Amino acid sequence: MIPVAFDYEVAESVDHAIELLGQHGEDAKLIAGGHSLIPIMRLRLAAPSVLIDLDRLDDLNYVRDEGDHLAIGAMTRHRDVHYNELVREHCGILGYTAGLLGDPSVQHRGTLGGTLAHGDPAGDMPSVISALEGTIVVKGPDGERTVGASDFFKDYLFTDLDEQEVVTEVRVPKLSSDTGWSYKKFSRRSQDWAIVGVAAVVEKSNGNIDSARIGLTSMGSTPIRATATEQALSGASPDQVAEAANSADEGTSPGTDDAASAEFRRHLARVWTRRAIEEALNR
Ligand SMILES: Cc1cc2nc3c(=O)[nH]c(=O)nc-3n(C[C@H](O)[C@H](O)[C@H](O)COP(=O)(O)OP(=O)(O)OC[C@H]3O[C@@H](n4cnc5c(N)ncnc54)[C@H](O)[C@@H]3O)c2cc1C
Repeated sequence: MIPVAFDYEVAESVDHAIELLGQHGEDAKLIAGGHSLIPIMRLRLAAPSVLIDLDRLDDLNYVRDEGDHLAIGAMTRHRDVHYNELVREHCGILGYTAGLLGDPSVQHRGTLGGTLAHGDPAGDMPSVISALEGTIVVKGPDGERTVGASDFFKDYLFTDLDEQEVVTEVRVPKLSSDTGWSYKKFSRRSQDWAIVGVAAVVEKSNGNIDSARIGLTSMGSTPIRATATEQALSGASPDQVAEAANSADEGTSPGTDDAASAEFRRHLARVWTRRAIEEALNR
């Protein structure tokens, strides 16, 4: 379907984008890679009167080593995250997952900031950033603020962003050599969206688990932490993983659709959580 007609503005800087959002009001939308926004405009589920294009904001395309964390500009494309050496060295789960998003054209155009701002619980990056306990930096007319992942995702396609705010940066911790990770994505065909995804970040010592953080994809209206499993894994030994993973779907509210029933999603969450933790322990 063809989207409803819209006007088009090009942002020359973050401040210019904020100014344009103020000028055009609630009917305006930022566009980054366009790989989530344009499809929903074509379905006429969104009909912004103005698109404000962030594509020229090259200064938001970077990965920086900031000591204990990596700072990644919001306009960094999935492909650049996937191949970045700093990401591969210090936050492997992020680079690995960026290589699983859709097909090459999605990865070349889609951005890290865009996929978080879109707030789709079926997106892979929101649950990974949740498991990493990453931080999202946003800028608006009143200046800059940082929001933890647990406060950023509010509901289906709804985040903590105000109408005039722009995501500028995403911060993720540098993982130590005692931290194992895994992202398990269950889909019918490669390059499909996740029916269920599990992001696991596991702190280890002497072969046991100190703590684990688990983010679930497609198990509710936001990315969800498997808190019951996380608690059961605190100080656990590897032979307790299977039992702990059995509570991975506690507190989730998966939907039923053409791809899977809610019951099957719950089953997948339990099985793939166990596999993700086992992989993280061996990495
Ligand atoms: C065929 C196909 C398959 C895909 N498969 C997957 C998949 O398997 N897994 C997955 O996770 N994703 C998948 N995607 C989505 C893809 O990852 C998108 O790139 C991503 O979700 C959105 O990023 P974008 O830069 O394209 O954002 P856009 O589509 O440009 O924008 C999305 C939303 O975020 C807002 N926005 C964008 N940037 C900012 C910013 N800096 N600050 C504030 N708001 C902003 C926009 O206003 C809009 O509301 C797929 C997409 C397609 C088309």
